[in-house]
Amino acid sequence: MSFAVCFCQGPLETFDHLFFDCPVTRRLWERLLIWMGIQRQIGDWSTELNWVNVMAKSKQGKSAIVSCGFGMLVVVIWRERNQLRFQSGSFQADNICRENSILSSYQRERTVQMGKSIA
Ligand SMILES: [Zn+2]
Repeated sequence: MSFAVCFCQGPLETFDHLFFDCPVTRRLWERLLIWMGIQRQIGDWSTELNWVNVMAKSKQGKSAIVSCGFGMLVVVIWRERNQLRFQSGSFQADNICRENSILSSYQRERTVQMGKSIA
């Protein structure tokens, strides 16, 4: 059995490495957070998951977009990882960031519209 090569070209892939011990996925999450106007130190998977859970329950305006952005990033990292592993696809950090930004913007717009219709 051979191990897949990670985004960072590391030889061994574990869940904890993939989320967010890997410098590549860590940087992706960092970029997404900065894009959402948040600057913070990124921890390991459980730290980030806890943080997103707290954010999701908070009344802050960013809570919806943060949980949505995080959820999509996890899906996209997993999908890209499968492509790397099984289809030897190429990995484009910029494309992932763009995809996340577009989807998150859509979600934000929808949240705003939902807010309006309730008011
Ligand atoms: Zn890696």
